[in-house]
Amino acid sequence: MPIQADCKIVGKEKLTTGIYKFSIKSKEIAELAKPGNFLEIKVSDSLETFLRRPISIYNIDRENEVVEFIFQVKGKGTEILAERKIGEDLNILGPLGNGTFSVKHYKKVAIIGGGIGIYPLYELAKTLKENSEVNTYLGFRNKDLVTLEEEFEEVSDKLVMTTDDGSYREKGFAIEFLKEDCKAEKPEMIFACGPLPMLKAVQSFGIENEIPTELSLEERMGCGIGACVGCAVLTKNKDGEEKYKYVCQHGPVFNAKEVII
Ligand SMILES: Cc1cc2nc3c(=O)[nH]c(=O)nc-3n(C[C@H](O)[C@H](O)[C@H](O)COP(=O)(O)OP(=O)(O)OC[C@H]3O[C@@H](n4cnc5c(N)ncnc54)[C@H](O)[C@@H]3O)c2cc1C
Repeated sequence: MPIQADCKIVGKEKLTTGIYKFSIKSKEIAELAKPGNFLEIKVSDSLETFLRRPISIYNIDRENEVVEFIFQVKGKGTEILAERKIGEDLNILGPLGNGTFSVKHYKKVAIIGGGIGIYPLYELAKTLKENSEVNTYLGFRNKDLVTLEEEFEEVSDKLVMTTDDGSYREKGFAIEFLKEDCKAEKPEMIFACGPLPMLKAVQSFGIENEIPTELSLEERMGCGIGACVGCAVLTKNKDGEEKYKYVCQHGPVFNAKEVII
């Protein structure tokens, strides 16, 4: 069961322009959270930002009862959040999401992320690395948006970083590097989170090559608990029957064969 509580901000760091890492103290969330879960954060009491903002859990530090998240300033809500200070309380609902990444012992997995979609993949890579070979592919628009290189190095056997414009590391889309590596040996599983065009490409690749694939969707969201149906996505079951599911309630992680994006 998720909790709703005022959680103290115990750490705040600006990673690059417009991107912040927050650490919050919460014994309950740290204990309950799983890779792929997210938090619904109340950024202020103002009517303008009345709805909580969904942000993925980036890192779980159970020993210190701390949970971390990273976000990019997009609009009013994240702008206000970025101004919050260490020592203040943030009202948080979480951990949320019933569909989380399938964590188990694999021989080899591929993790692919793009932009703000890389954040939930860190806790996943960290957890999987204990028992599996982890190859990670991260794509960014340009050098200014690159974050977490050292952190992902630590939790990956191989890390490929790409920029669309070639301003840092490899030039091109991360998926092209994943495809190339798969020619030598297929991973047992692919996990992805990122912009829609990346997810669509990963989905097709996984299905065509019969590699089980999970996609974490970061659709626009309202309530976070399945009440407002603002984050509906079309899914189909094994018999091809179509049905709407909700990213907040059934996801945010979906089997690539199930979800229509
Ligand atoms: C499950 C989930 C996990 C998420 N995890 C993270 C995370 O770890 N880090 C992070 O930086 N962001 C994450 N997001 C996206 C984040 O919630 C939005 O960027 C944020 O709510 C925008 O709020 P705002 O008030 O700043 O912007 P708004 O004023 O609401 O919107 C500003 C601009 O951002 C666009 N936008 C808003 N929400 C989204 C969205 N979900 N996807 C794409 N575009 C959007 C709007 O269309 C608009 O152009 C996540 C979203 C979901 C649903």
